[in-house]
Amino acid sequence: MKIKRNKQAKKILTFYKRNFGLREPFQVIVDGTFSQAALVGKILIKEQLPKYLGGEVQLVTTRCVISELSSLGNKLSGAMHIARRFKLRKCTHSGTLPAADCILALIGSDNPHHYLVASQDQDMRRKLRHLPGVPLMHIIRNTIVLEKPSDSTLDKAEDLTQSKMDSSSQVLDRLTPTSEQTKPTVRQRKKITKGPNPLSVKKSKKKPAGSGAVGGGLVSKSKKKRQRIQRKKALEILAQVVKSTNSQELVRTQNS
Ligand SMILES: [Zn+2]
Repeated sequence: MKIKRNKQAKKILTFYKRNFGLREPFQVIVDGTFSQAALVGKILIKEQLPKYLGGEVQLVTTRCVISELSSLGNKLSGAMHIARRFKLRKCTHSGTLPAADCILALIGSDNPHHYLVASQDQDMRRKLRHLPGVPLMHIIRNTIVLEKPSDSTLDKAEDLTQSKMDSSSQVLDRLTPTSEQTKPTVRQRKKITKGPNPLSVKKSKKKPAGSGAVGGGLVSKSKKKRQRIQRKKALEILAQVVKSTNSQELVRTQNS
């Protein structure tokens, strides 16, 4: 079960690496809700997360997350202790915001620093699913789960793949300028379309000359040329014959 889970996580991470530039060390933003769930579920984030993701992990959080936890009193002091051990990422906003708004600001519109987000906050995760390229994690029944890519993430990955394919085909076109010439000519296309149609095959059988009008034109042209050469040769032979006959007659008249 555990091996299957790790395999699934690896597959999802490979997808993010390939399409969104995710790389190690994986920077995971952890909020207060995830820290609390880990505490309750007796999950040691620092030990278990690298094993689950199969790579080096950097656990990060923000001042706003810490201050929200401290404002919630003794009930969440354990979670605050956990969160305080994480590296602090500078807030990208002024003042202090609710933890969820602070994390959303850090991710921005396209997650330029390739963060993963670990949170039990369903509302924030729902908002993050609308942004392509943000891997999300939460805890279910004492187990860390990496979510499958959201629809917007899958759509964006498809767009990126398509544009990559388009640009590579453009490069291919530029490298092979003759590709335009290798396209079938009008005549070749005619032949191609003629082939699979059984009706046209039948028709061509009826015709005595298999080659169409185009071929016929070529044949008659070369035929005319041949005839011209033959006529020329015949005239030359005729001229020689006439010449020799004349000279013979001349000899005969001289003899007589
Ligand atoms: Zn903040």
